[in-house]
Amino acid sequence: MTKTIDLRSDTVTRPTPEMRRAMADAEVGDDCYLEDPTVNKLQEVAAEKVGMEAALYVPTGTMGNQIAVKLHTQPSEEVITEERGHIFNFEMAGMAALSGVQARPLHTADGILDVSSIRKAVRPKMFSRSRTGLITLENTHNYAGGSVYSIARSREILDFSCESGIPVHMDGARIFNAATALGCDVKELTKGFPSVMFCLSKGLCAPVGSVLCGSGDFIDRARSQRKLLGGGMRQVGILAAAGLVALENMVGRLGEDHANARMIAEQLSRIDGISIDPTKVRTNILFFEITRPGLSAPQLITSLEERGVLAGSEDSSRIRMLTHHDVSREDCQAACRAICELMDGG
Ligand SMILES: *Cc1c(COP(=O)(O)O)cnc(C)c1O
Repeated sequence: MTKTIDLRSDTVTRPTPEMRRAMADAEVGDDCYLEDPTVNKLQEVAAEKVGMEAALYVPTGTMGNQIAVKLHTQPSEEVITEERGHIFNFEMAGMAALSGVQARPLHTADGILDVSSIRKAVRPKMFSRSRTGLITLENTHNYAGGSVYSIARSREILDFSCESGIPVHMDGARIFNAATALGCDVKELTKGFPSVMFCLSKGLCAPVGSVLCGSGDFIDRARSQRKLLGGGMRQVGILAAAGLVALENMVGRLGEDHANARMIAEQLSRIDGISIDPTKVRTNILFFEITRPGLSAPQLITSLEERGVLAGSEDSSRIRMLTHHDVSREDCQAACRAICELMDGG
């Protein structure tokens, strides 16, 4: 049997042998008493990495984002966000359900918000209008193809935040990919944000978990919100141990995933019937368009699946692929060959 090459998401990564050993050996305690030494260590290391005062281990990125929305807003406010963003599209309308706020999604070409469109979307201060309570941005932007905020662009948004008094939450699920793409320390990208969430369970290969970071006071309040959502956990150092390995040993290799994604994009750009701009592929996410009449994305995906290559279809013509630790350079080359053969044959 040939190996399955799973490019549907970087969430399919499995814990490494080193993680499994760390999990087996983890020192644990009851985290609801703040007595799990491994969780405490993970939170310290995470806060240090992003240059913030404190951090909270949460079961999912969704919970981290939703806690942040809750803490930054009051019911009946609006949240400025990008229209393809995770918070708006993949979190079950959580901001409405849990915080009583409504999203104000903005259109962008590449997922990256800019101050002039944010400024236009801020509600005027009138008793009859909803107040703008929060801005959220996503770095890297998942459904805009892993696009990255430049340091200058996030600075401009933070300056606007200071001027307007509207806080900005960063959905940094893949913030380490962004830092890798820019060749900078992750602190450069998180500096000045009152809250940042990042995931340990994607390209960093931990089986479970995300981290919400912010000031000491913000994180104290976040801990109560986590409890409210049923996310207070006990001897969870077993899982946090894998998160520590993720932070300490897995960040340095993300560049390989980026190089593989770029390589796939370059190969696909040479195939007749496929459209992709490889220069736009800066991290581990790529989208391509099927332009051949009579061939749909779901059809190509089904044929690829028969050859052991898994990808995700977004609509009738677009396919999404993510590179990660569990697909090698050779696997990526094999996936390109499979696509090439299918496109040549059809
Ligand atoms: C994966 C992801 C999240 C969090 O997802 P969970 O599955 O809840 O951990 C949040 N934002 C972005 C951009 C993501 O890609």
